[in-house]
Amino acid sequence: MSFEKFELHAKVFAGVQELGYLRPTPIQLQSIPPIMEGRDVMGLAQTGTGKTAAFVLPILQRLMQGSRGHVRALIIAPTRELSEQTHKAIGELGRRTQLKSASIYGGVSIQGQIKKLQDKVEIISACPGRLLDHINRGTVDLSKIEVLVIDEADHMFDMGFLPDIRRIVKHLPAKRQTLLFSATMPDDIKALANDLLQNPVNIKIGHTAPVDSVTHRFYPVPMESKTALLKDILDNTEMESVLVFTRTKSRAKSVALQLDKSGYKVTSLHGNLTQQKRQKALDGFRDGRYEIMVATDIAARGIDVTRISHVINYDMPSTADAYTHRIGRTGRASKTGDAFTFVTGQDVVLAHSLKRVLGEKLQYHSVDGLTMTMPLVASPAPARRSFNGNGGKQNNNRRSFAPSSKSSNGRTKQRSFGSTPRQSWTH
Ligand code: AMP
Repeated sequence: MSFEKFELHAKVFAGVQELGYLRPTPIQLQSIPPIMEGRDVMGLAQTGTGKTAAFVLPILQRLMQGSRGHVRALIIAPTRELSEQTHKAIGELGRRTQLKSASIYGGVSIQGQIKKLQDKVEIISACPGRLLDHINRGTVDLSKIEVLVIDEADHMFDMGFLPDIRRIVKHLPAKRQTLLFSATMPDDIKALANDLLQNPVNIKIGHTAPVDSVTHRFYPVPMESKTALLKDILDNTEMESVLVFTRTKSRAKSVALQLDKSGYKVTSLHGNLTQQKRQKALDGFRDGRYEIMVATDIAARGIDVTRISHVINYDMPSTADAYTHRIGRTGRASKTGDAFTFVTGQDVVLAHSLKRVLGEKLQYHSVDGLTMTMPLVASPAPARRSFNGNGGKQNNNRRSFAPSSKSSNGRTKQRSFGSTPRQSWTH
């Protein structure tokens, strides 16, 4: 399923393309159609699922029609950061639409905001307190709001903002579309939703950020060095069992073939296999005959091999959600696991999205002679992380996969990836 199916206005679709979104995330798939139909939506979803675009795209779509130059959509967020992020997403996704948005929050001069609000703003992304301030001063007109979004409603509740929300809603037209997003649904949020939403479509996205027991590493690498880097990692890392993801069937096949030729115990799983071969590959991977499996996303669905210690994204997944799915294969049942992702120059946008989702859990790694410098701002990582994600202790079940012909003395070559200063990405 691609974004084309939503039949977005060409100028809105251009924003999706410019951000490099290839496929809608589950929350987008489920909520964009009903929102575009004008339905109220209650979405149970966390940050990192793509929920911002899930409501921003239909809002942009709606606002492309009808009169311009007055406030027609209001997004209420609990924090300045979220308000600013949403404003930024509107700016990026709506770059071609020329729709004007403003972010409104406390702690900064109100005069600048008043000026902005007088400048034909059409979308407001606001925190409750400062918005009420503007309402009381008469510096914002919400009488023509068509869509109201309450984002991170549970945080709003935690921060004591629910009475403010109710006050704000009194200034909005009764006839409007209302969307409410929350990661959890405590009773107070249910009550708020009951009061504010009419016959809502309920959407639940079970996905959360990748499991905590997984450590995440990014390796910026030119396309042509990926296989060499993969071999380097396999040779120098203690591993139990490795799942390598590629974007296409043909690449799954060719990577597996190259590893096989170099003497690794490898199999592959992709859509072109007969059921029998697929089963053979899976069984062999499960019982340890094969230490490495190279697979595509679709083929890997349902793989449940408990001893997968590493997931290696040879090709970057196409969405943050696909990343979560892939990574869900390792670090299961409170075991630790490592997720390594090869990032080429083309993957930078998604890499940044993932960085936001993963935060400090993500580390940026280099291998002399193989990796490259990304065109990104870098800063020193806060703490040195253990190599195998288990506090520096050796895990006896793990060993490197250097093919026997290659290992000189049968011992694992323990080499630090951090021979060059470690870096983490910042925005
Ligand atoms: P959110 O949950 O809205 O905070 O989104 C998390 C991150 O995912 C943001 O950085 C978005 O830019 C990114 N994102 C949203 N939708 C998609 C998509 N369909 N494909 C790739 N990345 C996306």
